[in-house]
Amino acid sequence: MERSTATDPGTGPGTAPVPGRADAVVIGGGIIGASIAFHLAEAGVPGVLLLERERPAAGSSGKPIGGVRAQFSDPLNIRIGRRSLEAWRAFAARPGADIGFDGVGYLFLLGDATELALFEEGVATQNALGVPSRIIRPAEAAALCPYVDPDRIAAAAYCPTDGHALPVAAVRGYLRAAVRHGATVRTHCPVTAIDTSGGTLGAVRTPYGAVRTGTVICCAGAWSQQVGAMAGVRLPVTPLRRQIALTGPLDPPPPRIPFTLDFASTAYFHNDGAGGLLLGLSDPRQEPGFGRDFDREWLEPFRAAVARRAPALATVPAGHGWAGLYETTPDNNALIGESPDVRRFLYATGFSGHGFLQAPAVGELVRDLYLGREPFLDIGPLAASRFDGPAGEPGSAGVRPEAHII
Ligand SMILES: Cc1cc2nc3c(=O)[nH]c(=O)nc-3n(C[C@H](O)[C@H](O)[C@H](O)COP(=O)(O)OP(=O)(O)OC[C@H]3O[C@@H](n4cnc5c(N)ncnc54)[C@H](O)[C@@H]3O)c2cc1C
Repeated sequence: MERSTATDPGTGPGTAPVPGRADAVVIGGGIIGASIAFHLAEAGVPGVLLLERERPAAGSSGKPIGGVRAQFSDPLNIRIGRRSLEAWRAFAARPGADIGFDGVGYLFLLGDATELALFEEGVATQNALGVPSRIIRPAEAAALCPYVDPDRIAAAAYCPTDGHALPVAAVRGYLRAAVRHGATVRTHCPVTAIDTSGGTLGAVRTPYGAVRTGTVICCAGAWSQQVGAMAGVRLPVTPLRRQIALTGPLDPPPPRIPFTLDFASTAYFHNDGAGGLLLGLSDPRQEPGFGRDFDREWLEPFRAAVARRAPALATVPAGHGWAGLYETTPDNNALIGESPDVRRFLYATGFSGHGFLQAPAVGELVRDLYLGREPFLDIGPLAASRFDGPAGEPGSAGVRPEAHII
């Protein structure tokens, strides 16, 4: 199979024909597709071809800075988050790139006894799985993040091993390493159709030719429902716009603070790595859709929320911003598995706002699914079939609600 020689794949469009055959076609060059391509190629899988319709990290993975954590309520997410944190920390050695990992910790601000009880339960589960999170008093939270008014919170949950890193650098790092291990990366190359016959894959079609293949791995983020439909596979992923803003350099510059979130409102802020802060909020008024224009309406509820917890930030300037899509599922948990109807149609999508932090472990898990190896975690509960209930509603038994969602 033709191999890419580029050291930084995907910097420009090309019109060369795609390879006529591939052992595994990864669709999507975001953090999930890049991680999977790397893990497959590193394991010696020949003929790994990643197809991205635009450029690497053109979708949600283009977020300037991404939080990485293991503070979740669902043991599956805790284990995936913890395993991934180990990989993020070691990224400079494997696959080998600087991703600006900063282990500042995550600080969830809790407003009342109900939130505290929920997080006490979460911390107990996390501790049992080796995650060193803890509940702390308001004064300690304010010492960690001086913007927080200790009189305006009931408590906080803190984990010092969480932090943030640079998603675009991570995508590039994975793709370069995948290419080094023999994978081919084609950007500006959309998949337009997937041929199947009798539940078996035949080929993936692009404007630059068809690729015969026996395995497709759908990592198309918010566009996964459409890609799944090309093969007749139902992937219940809904796009939902989410936005961030950057303050630009502040005077005085902010202290180094944890990734700080108000659990009730989802308002969050952390250092931006350039002398300012990154601000965000999951606006509950946002309607589903593919629109990715940045607007400022969400800054109003953001300012109202931080006024309640960190009043010093209520009037902080918000300069330029960025809008991307959460690829949401009905229970805000990922879809990872193999279609029961189309053999070797694998998928890893629907990360609902925590796909960056889960990417290293997901790469491992999908590699093991592809190779038929024993994975470090049973991903059966993340199969898309858990939503095969009546009229597309979540089926009752397998739905896994995650409480620590932003
Ligand atoms: C504002 C915001 C803040 C976030 N904060 C965090 C955070 O702090 N921590 C965290 O873990 N996560 C965060 N997320 C979520 C995270 O960004 C996503 O879960 C993650 O990037 C998903 O990666 P992906 O590879 O699945 O999807 P994407 O990065 O969207 O990649 C999918 C790719 O598929 C390509 N594609 C689509 N259709 C086709 C096709 N037909 N042919 C070829 N290619 C195709 C797209 O062009 C795209 O590049 C945030 C998201 C947003 C929007």
